[in-house]
Amino acid sequence: MNEPNYKAELVGVFGHPVSENPTIVMQEAAFKEKGLNWRYLTIEVYPEDLEDAIKGLKAFNMRGINLTIPHKVEVLKYLDELSESAKIIGAVNTVVNNNKRLFGENTDGKGFLKALVDDGGVDPLDKNAVIFGAGGAARAIAVELIFAGLNKLIIINRTEKRGLELVNHLKDKTSMDVEFSKWDTPFSIPENFDIVVNATSIGLYPNINEKPDINYDSIKSSMVVCDVIPNPPRTKFLEEAGKRGAKTIDGLGMLVYQGAIGFKMWTGVDAPVNVMKEALKREFGA
Ligand code: NDP
Repeated sequence: MNEPNYKAELVGVFGHPVSENPTIVMQEAAFKEKGLNWRYLTIEVYPEDLEDAIKGLKAFNMRGINLTIPHKVEVLKYLDELSESAKIIGAVNTVVNNNKRLFGENTDGKGFLKALVDDGGVDPLDKNAVIFGAGGAARAIAVELIFAGLNKLIIINRTEKRGLELVNHLKDKTSMDVEFSKWDTPFSIPENFDIVVNATSIGLYPNINEKPDINYDSIKSSMVVCDVIPNPPRTKFLEEAGKRGAKTIDGLGMLVYQGAIGFKMWTGVDAPVNVMKEALKREFGA
């Protein structure tokens, strides 16, 4: 008979607000599928308590943690090591605790890239991309697309100052040809562009009828059009792109893959991606 082992391995997410973060649904489904005695905890951590929370993570010998709003940047000062992407993005969403040495990674852009390459069959090498938005998601996606060998990148953002800051940051940290473009409404996508990404929060539940203000007839069937919005997966933006014959990649895939990368980093086990996706679909009623 095996020795009894009643101790579960712990991971989770620190955030504020955090109660609507759905990550627990896919991670717990994955632990169950793989027969792992692991728990994913959704933990409210106020901004002023992050340092104590990180100490708690170490004291509890938690295997790792996800960070969400408002901790993704602030957490950097408590980490011992960062991935190359996390260094350039300047934000971390996944931490691994290796015997109290904390390693930080940003899996958002990597999850996006996996959805684009594996599900969409699109290799960004030498392609041209347009990203709407200049927040955390846009930043992570831009960095991974650049690492994947993109030819040209245009960032479009409602607030010019934030858009320019991102463009200057990317130019500074990489040798990429990045441009900022004003969001003339409606914005027309230049013809020689291959990848179009909505990395704004437009269209997120409950505002499911909203879509970015662009000239939808500038979307060509040769383009691949991606959305970061996971809920609902089929946004108005993707619906319009689909009507023009473009290939579409939804934000649910990105969400699942970024979680799957974290699952593997923590457990060392390949994530059951389909189980995770189905669990989230059920949760979103999609
Ligand atoms: P941020 O708050 O950092 O950035 C939000 C971005 O959206 C900004 O560029 C903002 O522009 C733009 N924006 C918001 N509302 C409007 C509007 N009405 N018109 C034009 N632009 C608008 O958020 P994040 O980057 O962290 O997240 C963005 C979205 O990505 C969220 O909906 C989130 O759910 C999703 N996400 C999905 C992930 C996934 O795995 N699928 C992972 C991470 C995020 P401005 O600068 O002008 O305010």
